[in-house]
Amino acid sequence: MAKEEITLSQPLQRNLDTFQNEFWVSKEKLHEIIDVFVQELKKGLHDNDDPYQIPMNPTWVMDYPDGSETGDYLALDLGGTNMRVVIVHLLGNHKFTKVQTKYRLPDHIRTTRKREELFGFMAECLGKFLKEQNPDGIPEGKTFPLGFTFSYPTTQSKIDSGVLQRWTKGFDIPGVEGNDAAALLRDEIEKREIPIKLVALICDTTGTLVASRYTDPDTIMGVIFGTGVNGAYYDVVADVPKIHNQLPDDISLATPMLINCEYGSFDNKHRVLPRTKYDVQIDQESPRPGQQAFEKMTAGYYLGEIIRKILLEGYETGYLFKDLAQDSEGAKKLAKDYILDSSFLSNLESDDTPDLAESKKEFETKLSINTTPEERLYAKKISAFIGTRAARLSICGISAVCQKMNYRKCHVAADGSVYMKYPHFPERAAKGLSDVFGWDGIKEEDHPIKIVKAQDGSGVGAAVIAALTHARNVKGLS
Ligand code: BGC
Ligand code: MG
Repeated sequence: MAKEEITLSQPLQRNLDTFQNEFWVSKEKLHEIIDVFVQELKKGLHDNDDPYQIPMNPTWVMDYPDGSETGDYLALDLGGTNMRVVIVHLLGNHKFTKVQTKYRLPDHIRTTRKREELFGFMAECLGKFLKEQNPDGIPEGKTFPLGFTFSYPTTQSKIDSGVLQRWTKGFDIPGVEGNDAAALLRDEIEKREIPIKLVALICDTTGTLVASRYTDPDTIMGVIFGTGVNGAYYDVVADVPKIHNQLPDDISLATPMLINCEYGSFDNKHRVLPRTKYDVQIDQESPRPGQQAFEKMTAGYYLGEIIRKILLEGYETGYLFKDLAQDSEGAKKLAKDYILDSSFLSNLESDDTPDLAESKKEFETKLSINTTPEERLYAKKISAFIGTRAARLSICGISAVCQKMNYRKCHVAADGSVYMKYPHFPERAAKGLSDVFGWDGIKEEDHPIKIVKAQDGSGVGAAVIAALTHARNVKGLS
């Protein structure tokens, strides 16, 4: 195989060994991280005193779906690259059907200076979708209930509003932080007289948990390993002291409360995560330094940037791309922030062609750099270090929640581009859990805590939550 054919020169090999050490997260280190993680989860449930702590946002989803929910609901999912509109038909009996359309987000929208542009675009897409789905016109008087998936940390005082705490994943649009994202979308829908009622604002993790539980009652968490990183689980109101003084009369301490952890912000105080100098730089150069410390080491949005920094350093110190002229296209691209996304690492890691020919193309198309087989092998190995570190750190959130809730045997529903597309990520995550819980010798499929592929959270999950909310309102609960 390719790996054996290419040999690395001594200096490159030595350099790789250093990286391997720096990026390896040992079993002991995992335990140390998880202990701090559990403390931070509890602190987040207790108060909101510190803007750098894990938010542990109550979602006001207070019911478990049981799979009997029915009805037709619209769902809107604002993702990193696409906007997705879905109509979900919940059929009961754990079944559903759906029809969806994706709309590409205009490139500049992540950082547009006008918030109306983003929310107006969403409303436009909703309007277009309804027209397409109802070619004979929308029946007079009909309104469509909408679940809005807005996957950023928000403070929710009720289920149909969410005040943005801060942008993540490179979004940076003024006038949204500190404002209710649901109200901003509602305004744009009303301006266009679209017959839609926004009934719930949810996060992708919340939707993932509920959608997966609709079909699989063993699900205790919804997690995202994608552009961003996060998890959600059900706690009980008694254990969320920070909301005790704002409880409506009909809610008792025994009521379940779905918590959107927003644990991408774990360790913002930098007490325990093994950050490298590249992680430190990425944080300092980001639009929100000091925030999302855990996410910046594990999420897809940052993986490409980590390897870019390492390759750039290799070039600048003279051990990589020796023939690359300083004023060349390649040198310019390599110096460009965020030019690589996680697909670069995925593609390198899955290349098993002789001489890593696929990776050669990857370097040419994305970076305009001509590489030697040795350089490609080096980059492939670096990718594996970065990808393995991300997977092993990722499971710390799951382990901490299971430890806090005393879950020993359960399913964790996972979604996101990294989980679904990054080679070996699921096995590496399972191995991390096995190291933490001591399952040596137990086959992966028999692991007591199992990460499974999620149902469509931001579509079906949003619909089920809209249905649960509707049922709660009908019962006269808030
Ligand atoms: C956001 C979360 C979201 C996660 C995955 C994070 O950056 O803050 O709300 O669940 O990304 O999409
Ligand atoms: Mg998404």
